[in-house]
Amino acid sequence: MSETIFSKIIRREIPADIVYEDDLILAFRDIQPQAPIHILVIPKQPIESISTVTPADQAVLGHLMVKIQQIAAEAELVNGYRVVTNIGADGGQTVSHLHFHILGQRQMAWPPG
Ligand code: 5GP
Repeated sequence: MSETIFSKIIRREIPADIVYEDDLILAFRDIQPQAPIHILVIPKQPIESISTVTPADQAVLGHLMVKIQQIAAEAELVNGYRVVTNIGADGGQTVSHLHFHILGQRQMAWPPG
């Protein structure tokens, strides 16, 4: 896959408000927040989206899923939150590097727009 802005954030070539990092994943605040808390969680390895995941990605994505609750707790999302990943054009994906939005500190609506 071609490189995205998120690779530049991982390499610290552009600034981001990073809230969590380890060897496998990075979490940082969205530049255009759609809720009072809006954090993006990404694998450091460049995976395009859920639709291109392979069995080789299982460990990193399992790790990412386990870490979401910690990142949400550190953001004090005590009343719940939403985790969203957009896939492709119809899914509303604008950055082609897999990312999970953590949205919280407001009441979420359903169905989403
Ligand atoms: P998508 O629309 O692909 O699901 O989500 C991409 C998200 O990345 C959007 O919510 C957008 O605001 C965010 N985003 C795009 N460019 C940047 C950036 O340079 N820095 C940060 N922190 N977020 C970005």
